[in-house]
Amino acid sequence: MSDDKNNIEEEPQDKTMLEHAKRLDEEDRQRREAERDMDMDIFDGVRASDGNPVQPVKIKESDSFCFSCHKGVSCWNVCCHGADITLTPFDILRLSKHLTIKPAEFLKLFTVPAMWHGADMPVAKLRMSGKDGKGACVFMDEEEGCTVYEDRPVNCRYYPLGMAAVKMKGAEGPDDFFFLVKEDHCKGHEESKELSVSEFRKEQGVEPYDEQNRGWVEILMKMSSWKVMGGPNGTVVPDKTKQMFFMATTDVEMFRRFVFESTFLQKYLIDPELVEELRTDDELLLKLGFDWMKNVLFNEPTIKLRQEVLNDAIARAREQNPRGAS
Ligand code: SF4
Ligand code: SF4
Repeated sequence: MSDDKNNIEEEPQDKTMLEHAKRLDEEDRQRREAERDMDMDIFDGVRASDGNPVQPVKIKESDSFCFSCHKGVSCWNVCCHGADITLTPFDILRLSKHLTIKPAEFLKLFTVPAMWHGADMPVAKLRMSGKDGKGACVFMDEEEGCTVYEDRPVNCRYYPLGMAAVKMKGAEGPDDFFFLVKEDHCKGHEESKELSVSEFRKEQGVEPYDEQNRGWVEILMKMSSWKVMGGPNGTVVPDKTKQMFFMATTDVEMFRRFVFESTFLQKYLIDPELVEELRTDDELLLKLGFDWMKNVLFNEPTIKLRQEVLNDAIARAREQNPRGAS
């Protein structure tokens, strides 16, 4: 395969280390500038009966709210129709295992491809039935409800809460924040059961999902922050890189083949023990995919090129641009 070769050629290895460090500083400064104008329009799919967007309420982890969803509510299953659910990498892994099918087959049967609107990056959304996609979720049974309940997607677990990792102005790292959405059709808000956000997250089992998906969320948030400049450091992300991102974040089996059957391991320096674990550990493989993509998209030092590959690339760059490489 030649895809990772192309990625290597895209890296700024025609600079000295000092120039490279300066450039990273400058990129970071520009990204911070972009983040100041960041408008996270993450709620536009949620609308009230009058068609206006529902304003979510931002809440802290210790805040409480009244809510309960159970078979006795009058709106049972209403929210599982025409739902706009982006599947996270860990959702796809868990659901494929639940159904004992390969991720590629899962993607084909139960998802539709989409671009994540904030970041212009490819994602998979859960398929809804009906020509217009307004019908029932493919996993919904009118009587029993969700047929994949133990492995339902994290967005379904969180509802009516949402979580976003946002890097606030001036902050060093991303902060998690939560929001509560009250849609007209959801009668769960009229129930008396009261839980804090923290208790609700535990009850719904979202913590392993947040942990496993963190690298993916960080990539999407960073791409969102760069969007106003057209892409990372003002550079448009090539379609091929977007395809690699989709593969690494949706199909662990294909990504594993890529890692072990292409020249990937000849180019990147990965601890031999980790290499052995990657043969069978899907969660570690997902993390490798996120680290690789952070390196490809943002030049983050999340994965290392082998020294000989680096030397070759620098020599090649010097040949092509003798004045630029000192
Ligand atoms: S996966 Fe389950 S909970 Fe989520 S929309 Fe489908 S049926 Fe509803
Ligand atoms: S609309 Fe609300 S209360 Fe009704 S089934 Fe969905 S989550 Fe539960």
